[in-house]
Amino acid sequence: MRLQKHDLYMTFAKLASMRSTCANHSEGAILLIDNIMFMGYTGNLPKQKHCKDILNESGKRQPCNCNSAELNVIFQVTKSRQPVSAHNGATLYTTDTITIDKLNQLVSAGVTEIVYKKENQSEEELRDILEFAKYNEISLLCYEDETEIIDSNVNEMLLEVHNLLNINK
Ligand SMILES: [Zn+2]
Repeated sequence: MRLQKHDLYMTFAKLASMRSTCANHSEGAILLIDNIMFMGYTGNLPKQKHCKDILNESGKRQPCNCNSAELNVIFQVTKSRQPVSAHNGATLYTTDTITIDKLNQLVSAGVTEIVYKKENQSEEELRDILEFAKYNEISLLCYEDETEIIDSNVNEMLLEVHNLLNINK
């Protein structure tokens, strides 16, 4: 069986989420530009303290101001080469949900296609997001709507990756 493209990159995005340094959100994002893959995950920028390592007086994790996985993957691209907008489009895969704020950042960066996971979105939010995407000519695809067995797909693939790499959980 040949792995479907969206399944492949969503699995990479899920793997990226496992590198998250955020105590509150473990999300990952993959940005694909000319078939070159960039990775981002929730967390602070390099050289800043990981929010996982910052505890308050009672030993609890603080509410944090970590960057989203989507923003961090854009930083990765701008650090390493030309801006995303210099290319003929870029596809972003994220394990997280999409918000208007994120769409704004991604559109500004030059992302033209977004594949995302849907979670806890109200119909009103979804309508706003779809309108915004349409106005900005962004292709928006909800991964979970596309296939009903997505989660089991990704989990099975991750298990295989773990086995292949012999990673101990
Ligand atoms: Zn955090």
